[in-house]
This record gives sequence, C-alpha cells and structure tokens, in this order.
Amino acid sequence: TPLIGVLALQGDFREHIAAVEACGARAIGLRRREEIDAIDGLVIPGGESTTMSRLLTAFELLDPLRSRLKEGLPALGSCAGMIMLASEILDTRPDAQHLDALDITVRRNAFGRQVDSFEEDLHIDGIEGGPVRAVFIRAPWVERVGASVEVLARVEAGPAQGRIVAVRENAVIATSFHPEVTGDLRIHDLFVQTVRGSTLNSG
Ligand code: GLN
Repeated sequence: TPLIGVLALQGDFREHIAAVEACGARAIGLRRREEIDAIDGLVIPGGESTTMSRLLTAFELLDPLRSRLKEGLPALGSCAGMIMLASEILDTRPDAQHLDALDITVRRNAFGRQVDSFEEDLHIDGIEGGPVRAVFIRAPWVERVGASVEVLARVEAGPAQGRIVAVRENAVIATSFHPEVTGDLRIHDLFVQTVRGSTLNSG
C-alpha cells in the first residue's frame, strides 16, 4: 500500500488525508524532512501559497522535496498546491519559492475579487462517470503549459471560459479547484492509481 505524504504546514491538509485514505492508500501529514524519504507520493493542499512558501523554507523542506520531485515523485496539488508545483507564478511576492515540478505558468487569484469563490461542473480528461463538481476559492488559472503538459480541464462557461484549470505532466497532477471538499474521490483515485503505477515501475 503506497504511503502518501500530505504537506501539513498550512491549509486544508486534513481533508486530503481523509480522501487519500478513502482511496485505500496510507497517508501522513508531512512536516519534517526526515519523513520525505519514505513517501511514494506527495499531496500539496489548498491554502495560501506565499505562507506555504515561507513555511517550506523555514522547515527546510524545499530542497529535499524539489529533488524527490525531480526524480519523478508523483504529486497532486490543489489550488495553492498547484501554485507550489508550478515552474512560474504570476502575481506573487518576489521572494515566493516554488517547487518547479510542473512546466506551467500560473496566475494567482486569477478570477478576480468579484468572483472570489464559485462552483462549476467540469469534464475532466481521464475521469469517467460524468462531470466533477469543481469548487474554486481565490483560485489560480494556468496561462501557459509546456509541451509535455496535458490539459485535463478548462472552464466551460462564463467570463473565464476556456481557462485551463486542471493539468497533468507525467505523474504530477494539479487542479485550480478543491477536489478534497466535495466528497467526490475520483481525482484522488486517479492520483493514487498513478502512485501505484509508478511504484510498480520502479520495482
Ligand atoms: N489564493 C491562494 C494563493 O495564492 C490560493 C487559494 C486556495 O488555495 N484556496 O495561494
């Protein structure tokens, strides 16, 4: 059974731990660098990316996580987690750090103040059984994807129609929205299956 580390410095990590366990994997709240070696996959929750960035630095997790991700550690990021996994962030603080595991450019708080939070049904590539209810909370969107990044979902209606809100590059998956808050486990399931696949491949 794979062990998933859910980054537990800040944000809604408890919901992700519950979702990962409901998918049949083991989960730990990841806080210490000693725990990083043991994990088969990483989840980065929603929260506040600049705060998460400061805490990652303070807890000395930034470099060890970067190097495991570079070696192919599977990861799932939602909202602030997507921002942390990105290779480039627009509208952030100049000193904000990120993990550079996904070749995308994200814009923080992209949907604007007047639409702080909203929900929408989204069709997601690779997810069967109908649309996913996507909950957006001060969410980023993706403005650029690298050649090896698959777009999994776009906003389907309204002023932000066509904006990219779910992506995948190899074993790294990220969503602008919060799959951990709806009780729909399909995105976590997809991730846990990805982790199982990659641990099989590496023996
Ligand atoms: N706006 C937050 C940030 O920039 C993300 C919000 C969230 O994770 N719900 O980090």
